[in-house]
Amino acid sequence: MASFKPSIMLNPIDGSHCASGEVHVIIGPMFAGKTTALLRRIRSEGNNGRSVAMIKSSKDTRYAIDSVETHDGIKFPCWALPDLTSFRSKLGDDAYEKLDVIGIDEAQFFEDLYDFCCKAADHDGKTVIVAGLDGDYLRRSFGSVLDVIPLAETVTKLSARCELCGKRAFFTLRKTGEKQTELIGGADVYMPVCRQHYVNVNVNGQVVIEAARSVLESHKIQRTNPSLRQIQLFNGCI
Ligand SMILES: [Zn+2]
Repeated sequence: MASFKPSIMLNPIDGSHCASGEVHVIIGPMFAGKTTALLRRIRSEGNNGRSVAMIKSSKDTRYAIDSVETHDGIKFPCWALPDLTSFRSKLGDDAYEKLDVIGIDEAQFFEDLYDFCCKAADHDGKTVIVAGLDGDYLRRSFGSVLDVIPLAETVTKLSARCELCGKRAFFTLRKTGEKQTELIGGADVYMPVCRQHYVNVNVNGQVVIEAARSVLESHKIQRTNPSLRQIQLFNGCI
Protein backbone atom coordinates (compact mmCIF):
# COMPACT_ATOMS: atom_id res chain seq x y z
CA MET A 1 0.00 0.00 0.00
CA ALA A 2 1.96 3.03 1.22
CA SER A 3 4.88 3.83 -1.04
CA PHE A 4 6.07 6.80 1.07
CA LYS A 5 7.25 8.74 -1.95
CA PRO A 6 8.19 12.27 -0.86
CA SER A 7 5.92 14.79 -2.51
CA ILE A 8 5.70 17.69 -0.07
CA MET A 9 6.45 21.02 -1.75
CA LEU A 10 8.55 23.48 0.17
CA ASN A 11 8.00 27.21 0.16
CA PRO A 12 11.00 28.68 -1.72
CA ILE A 13 11.07 31.72 0.56
CA ASP A 14 11.11 30.29 4.04
CA GLY A 15 11.38 26.54 3.45
CA SER A 16 8.03 25.81 5.10
CA HIS A 17 5.47 23.50 3.55
CA CYS A 18 3.18 24.95 0.92
CA ALA A 19 -0.45 24.83 1.99
CA SER A 20 -1.54 22.50 -0.82
CA GLY A 21 -3.65 20.15 1.23
CA GLU A 22 -7.35 19.33 0.88
CA VAL A 23 -10.18 18.08 3.07
CA HIS A 24 -12.95 15.86 1.75
CA VAL A 25 -15.84 14.69 3.93
CA ILE A 26 -18.02 11.62 3.40
CA ILE A 27 -21.10 11.46 5.65
CA GLY A 28 -24.34 9.48 5.89
CA PRO A 29 -26.18 7.00 8.11
CA MET A 30 -24.90 3.57 9.04
CA PHE A 31 -24.75 1.03 6.20
CA ALA A 32 -24.49 3.77 3.56
CA GLY A 33 -21.10 2.59 2.28
CA LYS A 34 -19.02 5.39 3.83
CA THR A 35 -16.07 3.13 4.65
CA THR A 36 -16.29 1.52 1.20
CA ALA A 37 -16.19 4.96 -0.44
CA LEU A 38 -13.26 5.97 1.76
CA LEU A 39 -11.32 2.79 0.95
CA ARG A 40 -12.00 3.20 -2.76
CA ARG A 41 -10.64 6.74 -2.64
CA ILE A 42 -7.57 5.76 -0.59
CA ARG A 43 -6.79 2.82 -2.89
CA SER A 44 -7.14 5.04 -5.93
CA GLU A 45 -4.74 7.61 -4.44
CA GLY A 46 -2.29 4.81 -3.62
CA ASN A 47 -2.53 3.45 -7.17
CA ASN A 48 -1.69 6.93 -8.44
CA GLY A 49 1.62 6.78 -6.59
CA ARG A 50 0.62 8.86 -3.57
CA SER A 51 1.63 7.76 -0.12
CA VAL A 52 -1.45 6.90 1.95
CA ALA A 53 -2.35 6.01 5.54
CA MET A 54 -5.64 5.13 7.17
CA ILE A 55 -6.71 5.88 10.74
CA LYS A 56 -9.70 4.58 12.65
CA SER A 57 -10.85 4.97 16.23
CA SER A 58 -9.61 2.39 18.70
CA LYS A 59 -13.10 2.60 20.26
CA ASP A 60 -14.54 0.52 17.44
CA THR A 61 -13.35 -3.03 17.92
CA ARG A 62 -16.14 -4.72 15.96
CA TYR A 63 -13.66 -5.76 13.30
CA ALA A 64 -9.91 -6.38 13.26
CA ILE A 65 -8.05 -3.77 15.32
CA ASP A 66 -5.31 -3.20 12.74
CA SER A 67 -7.51 -2.84 9.68
CA VAL A 68 -10.46 -0.84 8.46
CA GLU A 69 -13.15 -3.23 7.35
CA THR A 70 -16.43 -2.57 5.56
CA HIS A 71 -19.68 -4.26 6.56
CA ASP A 72 -19.20 -6.54 3.56
CA GLY A 73 -15.72 -7.64 4.55
CA ILE A 74 -13.26 -5.51 2.49
CA LYS A 75 -10.12 -4.78 4.55
CA PHE A 76 -7.33 -2.20 4.54
CA PRO A 77 -4.47 -1.86 7.06
CA CYS A 78 -4.85 1.05 9.45
CA TRP A 79 -3.78 2.76 12.64
CA ALA A 80 -6.34 2.28 15.43
CA LEU A 81 -5.89 5.30 17.71
CA PRO A 82 -7.71 6.90 20.67
CA ASP A 83 -7.13 10.38 19.17
CA LEU A 84 -5.68 11.96 16.04
CA THR A 85 -3.08 14.07 17.79
CA SER A 86 -1.06 10.95 18.59
CA PHE A 87 -0.89 9.89 14.92
CA ARG A 88 2.23 11.85 14.00
CA SER A 89 4.24 10.61 16.99
CA LYS A 90 3.09 7.02 16.45
CA LEU A 91 3.99 7.13 12.76
CA GLY A 92 7.22 9.10 13.25
CA ASP A 93 8.07 12.54 11.86
CA ASP A 94 9.89 11.26 8.77
CA ALA A 95 7.07 8.94 7.70
CA TYR A 96 4.51 11.69 8.42
CA GLU A 97 6.39 14.18 6.26
CA LYS A 98 6.30 11.75 3.35
CA LEU A 99 2.58 11.05 3.61
CA ASP A 100 0.32 12.52 0.95
CA VAL A 101 -3.14 11.26 1.90
CA ILE A 102 -4.68 10.46 5.29
CA GLY A 103 -8.02 8.61 5.52
CA ILE A 104 -10.01 8.85 8.76
CA ASP A 105 -12.80 6.32 9.32
CA GLU A 106 -15.52 6.56 12.01
CA ALA A 107 -14.51 10.20 12.40
CA GLN A 108 -17.33 10.94 14.85
CA PHE A 109 -15.26 9.30 17.59
CA PHE A 110 -12.34 11.78 17.31
CA GLU A 111 -12.75 14.88 19.46
CA ASP A 112 -9.64 16.49 17.94
CA LEU A 113 -10.87 16.08 14.34
CA TYR A 114 -11.10 19.81 13.58
CA ASP A 115 -7.63 20.71 14.81
CA PHE A 116 -6.09 17.68 13.11
CA CYS A 117 -7.70 18.43 9.72
CA CYS A 118 -6.75 22.10 9.97
CA LYS A 119 -3.12 21.37 10.67
CA ALA A 120 -2.77 18.45 8.26
CA ALA A 121 -4.37 20.24 5.28
CA ASP A 122 -3.49 23.90 5.91
CA HIS A 123 0.03 23.55 7.22
CA ASP A 124 1.31 20.08 6.34
CA GLY A 125 -0.05 19.87 2.78
CA LYS A 126 -1.95 16.61 3.33
CA THR A 127 -5.11 15.49 1.60
CA VAL A 128 -7.42 14.37 4.41
CA ILE A 129 -10.45 12.24 3.60
CA VAL A 130 -12.88 12.04 6.51
CA ALA A 131 -15.69 9.46 6.71
CA GLY A 132 -18.19 9.39 9.55
CA LEU A 133 -21.74 9.68 10.80
CA ASP A 134 -23.16 13.17 10.48
CA GLY A 135 -25.93 12.40 12.97
CA ASP A 136 -26.48 10.07 15.91
CA TYR A 137 -29.56 7.87 16.43
CA LEU A 138 -31.52 10.97 17.51
CA ARG A 139 -30.37 12.84 14.35
CA ARG A 140 -28.25 15.21 16.39
CA SER A 141 -24.80 16.27 15.24
CA PHE A 142 -22.38 13.47 16.12
CA GLY A 143 -18.93 14.35 17.45
CA SER A 144 -16.99 16.89 15.38
CA VAL A 145 -17.84 15.60 11.90
CA LEU A 146 -20.02 18.59 10.98
CA ASP A 147 -17.43 20.99 12.38
CA VAL A 148 -14.97 20.11 9.60
CA ILE A 149 -17.40 20.90 6.77
CA PRO A 150 -16.28 24.54 6.66
CA LEU A 151 -12.72 23.24 6.17
CA ALA A 152 -13.67 20.95 3.30
CA GLU A 153 -13.34 21.22 -0.47
CA THR A 154 -16.06 18.60 -0.96
CA VAL A 155 -18.83 17.02 1.13
CA THR A 156 -20.61 13.84 0.02
CA LYS A 157 -23.72 12.58 1.82
CA LEU A 158 -24.38 8.94 1.05
CA SER A 159 -27.66 7.11 1.62
CA ALA A 160 -28.46 3.56 2.63
CA ARG A 161 -31.61 1.55 1.93
CA CYS A 162 -34.48 1.75 4.44
CA GLU A 163 -34.77 -1.61 6.15
CA LEU A 164 -38.52 -1.24 6.45
CA CYS A 165 -39.55 -0.13 2.94
CA GLY A 166 -36.49 -0.19 0.69
CA LYS A 167 -36.50 3.57 -0.07
CA ARG A 168 -33.35 5.67 0.28
CA ALA A 169 -32.40 5.97 3.95
CA PHE A 170 -30.64 8.99 5.43
CA PHE A 171 -31.08 8.29 9.14
CA THR A 172 -29.89 5.70 11.65
CA LEU A 173 -32.46 4.16 13.98
CA ARG A 174 -31.44 2.40 17.17
CA LYS A 175 -33.37 -0.80 17.74
CA THR A 176 -32.56 -1.11 21.41
CA GLY A 177 -33.49 0.98 24.45
CA GLU A 178 -30.02 2.25 25.41
CA LYS A 179 -29.76 6.01 25.63
CA GLN A 180 -26.04 6.81 25.42
CA THR A 181 -24.88 8.58 22.25
CA GLU A 182 -21.95 6.25 21.66
CA LEU A 183 -23.16 2.67 21.53
CA ILE A 184 -21.02 0.73 19.12
CA GLY A 185 -22.86 -1.97 17.23
CA GLY A 186 -23.85 -3.26 13.84
CA ALA A 187 -27.08 -4.54 12.36
CA ASP A 188 -28.01 -6.01 15.75
CA VAL A 189 -28.36 -2.51 17.21
CA TYR A 190 -28.94 -0.13 14.29
CA MET A 191 -30.83 0.05 11.03
CA PRO A 192 -30.94 2.68 8.29
CA VAL A 193 -34.41 4.15 7.71
CA CYS A 194 -36.16 6.71 5.50
CA ARG A 195 -37.74 9.81 7.01
CA GLN A 196 -41.22 8.29 7.15
CA HIS A 197 -40.07 5.28 9.11
CA TYR A 198 -37.73 7.28 11.31
CA VAL A 199 -40.61 9.52 12.35
CA ASN A 200 -43.19 6.72 12.65
CA VAL A 201 -41.07 4.55 14.87
CA ASN A 202 -40.08 7.45 17.09
CA VAL A 203 -43.56 8.86 17.74
CA ASN A 204 -45.01 5.51 18.70
CA GLY A 205 -42.96 3.35 21.03
CA GLN A 206 -45.04 0.27 20.33
CA VAL A 207 -44.29 0.55 16.64
CA VAL A 208 -40.61 0.85 17.49
CA ILE A 209 -40.73 -2.38 19.39
CA GLU A 210 -42.68 -4.19 16.69
CA ALA A 211 -40.46 -2.85 13.93
CA ALA A 212 -37.33 -3.75 15.83
CA ARG A 213 -38.62 -7.20 16.60
CA SER A 214 -39.58 -7.94 13.01
CA VAL A 215 -36.22 -6.72 11.72
CA LEU A 216 -34.35 -8.67 14.38
CA GLU A 217 -36.32 -11.75 13.38
CA SER A 218 -35.48 -11.17 9.74
CA HIS A 219 -31.79 -10.98 10.62
CA LYS A 220 -31.97 -14.26 12.51
CA ILE A 221 -33.60 -15.94 9.53
CA GLN A 222 -31.15 -14.27 7.16
CA ARG A 223 -28.26 -16.00 8.91
CA THR A 224 -29.77 -19.40 8.24
CA ASN A 225 -31.33 -18.68 4.85
CA PRO A 226 -30.26 -15.49 3.06
CA SER A 227 -32.86 -15.95 0.31
CA LEU A 228 -35.63 -15.30 2.85
CA ARG A 229 -34.25 -11.91 3.86
CA GLN A 230 -36.20 -9.77 1.43
CA ILE A 231 -39.49 -11.53 2.14
CA GLN A 232 -39.03 -11.15 5.86
CA LEU A 233 -38.15 -7.48 5.56
CA PHE A 234 -41.32 -6.75 3.64
CA ASN A 235 -43.36 -8.79 6.10
CA GLY A 236 -41.91 -6.49 8.74
CA CYS A 237 -43.11 -3.34 6.95
CA ILE A 238 -45.12 -0.86 9.00
ZN1 LIG B 1 -38.84 3.42 4.97
